[in-house]
Amino acid sequence: MHMKSFKILTLLLGFSIIFAACKEDEEPAPNDNSNNTTDEVPAVYKKIYGASEIYLDGDFVVIKTQGIPDHKSPYYKNTQWSDRYEAYNGTNSQFHLNPNRITETNSTYRIPLNPVEVTSGNQSTSLGPMGISLNGVAFFNQYAGPNNQPLTDEINSFDQYNGHPQQAGVYHYHLEPTWLTASKGKNALLGFLLDGFPVYGPEEGGILVQESELDDFHGHKHATADYPDGIYHYHVTATDPYINGDGFKGTPGTITR
Ligand SMILES: [Zn+2]
Ligand SMILES: [Zn+2]
Repeated sequence: MHMKSFKILTLLLGFSIIFAACKEDEEPAPNDNSNNTTDEVPAVYKKIYGASEIYLDGDFVVIKTQGIPDHKSPYYKNTQWSDRYEAYNGTNSQFHLNPNRITETNSTYRIPLNPVEVTSGNQSTSLGPMGISLNGVAFFNQYAGPNNQPLTDEINSFDQYNGHPQQAGVYHYHLEPTWLTASKGKNALLGFLLDGFPVYGPEEGGILVQESELDDFHGHKHATADYPDGIYHYHVTATDPYINGDGFKGTPGTITR
C-alpha cells in the first residue's frame, strides 16, 4: 500500500471514530420514568403510567400495555394476582360476577401524535378497545354487543371500579373509571381514544359537564391544563353514551393484540 493512501485511510478511520462518538452523545438520555419512555415523547403521554413502553414512530405515539388494572377487583378471583382480589363492595344491588377473569393482554396502541378533526365520514368505534386509560386499561364504547345492544344488563357486571373483563379476559371501562377520577380528579385527563384526542373526567371547574355542551361524538374544544392552546377532547358523563358518541372525531390509529 502506498504511504499516501495509508495516511488517508488512517485519517478516515480517525474521523469515523470521532463521528461515532458524537453520535452516541446525541442519543436521548434515559430518564427515570417507570414506564419506559424516551425524552422525545411529549409529557402528556407520560401520564399513561400503566404503559410498559411509550415511544414515537413517525407521526404516531406507540403505547404498549398488559392491560390489567392497578386496582383491586372481584375479577381477580382465582387468578395469579390473588392479592388484588377484592369482593364486590359497590352500591349496585343487582351486581353479579360474570364468568370471565382478568388476563394480561399484550396490546400495542398506535395513536396519531397530532390528531386532526375530520368533518365528514367519521369512523364509528368498534366493539373492543377504542382507547387507553392512564392505568393501561382499555376504554370500550357504549354497546354490549353487535347491532348497538345497550349496556343495560352488562352494567350489572361492572365491579366497584366500573370495569369488567370480556370473554378473552380483557378488562375494560365503558363508563367513568372511578379509580382514576378518585386519584387524579374529576376534571383530570383520563386517557386517549384511538384518534389521539384526549378523554377528560366528568367535571370542568368543579361543575358537571352536561351532555348538551358536547357534540355528537361526545366532545368539544377548548383549552385544558394539558393543552393550553386548546384541543378537541371527549368527556366522560354519567349518562349514555358515557365516553364516546357517534364515533371518532379524528382518524383513528390502530390497536393490535
Ligand atoms: Zn364490556
Ligand atoms: Zn371540556
